[in-house]
Amino acid sequence: MTRVYNFSAGPAALPEPVLRQAAEEMLDWHGAGMSVMEMSHRGPEFMSIHAQAQADLRELLGVPSNYRTLFMQGGAIAENAIVPMNLMRGRAGADYIDTGAWSQRSIAEARKFGRINVAASSAADGYTSIPPREQWKLDPQAAYVHICSNETIGGVQYHWTPEVGEVPLVADVSSDILSRPLDVSRFGLLYGGAQKNIGPAGLTIVIVREDLLDGAHPLTPDAFNYRLQAEADSMLNTPPTYAIYVAGLVFQWLKAQGGLTAMAERNRSKAALLYDCLDATAFYRAPVARECRSWMNVPFKLHDERLDAAFLQGAEAAGLKQLKGHRMVGGMRASIYNAMPIEGVRALVAYMKDFERRHG
Ligand SMILES: *Cc1c(COP(=O)(O)O)cnc(C)c1O
Repeated sequence: MTRVYNFSAGPAALPEPVLRQAAEEMLDWHGAGMSVMEMSHRGPEFMSIHAQAQADLRELLGVPSNYRTLFMQGGAIAENAIVPMNLMRGRAGADYIDTGAWSQRSIAEARKFGRINVAASSAADGYTSIPPREQWKLDPQAAYVHICSNETIGGVQYHWTPEVGEVPLVADVSSDILSRPLDVSRFGLLYGGAQKNIGPAGLTIVIVREDLLDGAHPLTPDAFNYRLQAEADSMLNTPPTYAIYVAGLVFQWLKAQGGLTAMAERNRSKAALLYDCLDATAFYRAPVARECRSWMNVPFKLHDERLDAAFLQGAEAAGLKQLKGHRMVGGMRASIYNAMPIEGVRALVAYMKDFERRHG
């Protein structure tokens, strides 16, 4: 068996010990005589898995007691509609900050539900920065302010939490949740799909302040109604049981690594290795402004794009997989989530230096 270094943006690499444990428990979970996939979601075995995953997620993020953690389905793209359905609360509109492809996707969907004010945008510089807070034109009557904490495609990440007064701050945290500590109390709602930095696709995590549970539009489907899901302990419909189980193993793994403070230190070092390599030469280029470079997704270009194919081919041969950039941006992208060990980043940097020697 050979495991490669997988730089996929998502679905993405999982920690190897988690995969091993899932494999060991595949046919018989803790003496139950069946796989987690085969269990009733209402039976005591799965209920214990679910409760433990909830408790571990809350512990890792320090979720305050007036917030509910929901395990939903549909991914962040579904949440782009579910958020306005639940949070518009009869108000005319909401404020959105546009920092790239995923913000734009959120904005387009939200426009179906109300008047959307793009309060700031970094379109003018090709989405390589985050507009400074002083430039945001917020509406004090807005139902909420929406940001994307980490633009997975563009590689732009907030390294600060915006102050938006009384209006609830909502963040799509799909690609950086659990990568570092987060002050949940600064937000009204956080949401993200699991398949970037947590576990298998199919699970969506929502962390919502209790006072925001009761505003759902009457046409909101029950399965997407935060209040109803909170009351049903996220089991109004059959939850994605296996994805929750694997996410739970990842939460345990994160705790064993020292929690999010330790992960932040590791992720910061991994990103620094890669950005230092990019900044050291004109052969490569990192397009994003320094102060908002993502620790999770590192897009970069070769100075001569005619070398792209050779770069990718050589990387594949060296066991460095899925480095091709998103088609909207081109070039390369290395996604270095929690599960990417520093050895993987070292191997990538060594390959990049060698490639430059041969082609520079
Ligand atoms: C991947 C991603 C999405 C889309 O997630 P789906 O699970 O496909 O709905 C949305 N926002 C961000 C920031 C992402 O990284």
